[in-house]
Amino acid sequence: MKNIIFVAAPAAGKGSYSNILKEKYGYIHISTGDMLREAIASHSELGMYVKNIIDNGNLVSDDIMIKLIDNKLKEIKGKPFILDGFPRTLNQAISLENLIDNYIVIYLTVDKDLATRRMTGRRNCECGKSYNIYEDEFKPKVDNICDICGKKLLQRADDNKEAFEIRFNTFVNNSKPIKEYYEGKDKLVVIDSNRNVNEVFKDISEVIND
Ligand code: AMP
Repeated sequence: MKNIIFVAAPAAGKGSYSNILKEKYGYIHISTGDMLREAIASHSELGMYVKNIIDNGNLVSDDIMIKLIDNKLKEIKGKPFILDGFPRTLNQAISLENLIDNYIVIYLTVDKDLATRRMTGRRNCECGKSYNIYEDEFKPKVDNICDICGKKLLQRADDNKEAFEIRFNTFVNNSKPIKEYYEGKDKLVVIDSNRNVNEVFKDISEVIND
């Protein structure tokens, strides 16, 4: 099974498709955003350092992120993985090249209006399960309650209009060189994530089973 790197704007669907792929194929889902949010929740030194950066919609430094990913990849010892949220800069992409092989980059495109709507509807549970109250496929069975553990759903601190604007624009500015880098290596597949879940997932499945 090829390792997967998702490159996509915030709220394009990286997390949702990673969850489906994890359940269906057994991938390990490596979400750098989740790792940082866990660090914040546990009040670790890293968490205290990154909290404001994340809440304001800015990027954490490459040095920190590359170290985090390097450690995580060592920890999973060659099992198939999905990278969700890394790389976010060309520098991260170049460093990653020395750490992994056998991968494909899936670049999910999404219109800003749709991404904004998805962001507004996004809810998460402490247990890691994510939902979207605007999309039937991702709605919780009971309003605002996790299907799995019954806890109350939460909204991310950076899922607000101001932070989202910064996050989306940062992606637009940084993604071009990343896209070109992987195109040059013949590793890039572009998938339109403005469509419904089944259509998008079908395309993703074809790519990874190719
Ligand atoms: P995400 O959950 O992927 O939307 O990430 C949430 C936030 O974590 C981002 O807005 C950044 O502040 C930070 N973050 C996650 N991954 C990275 C990365 N690869 N490089 C820099 N910052 C990151």
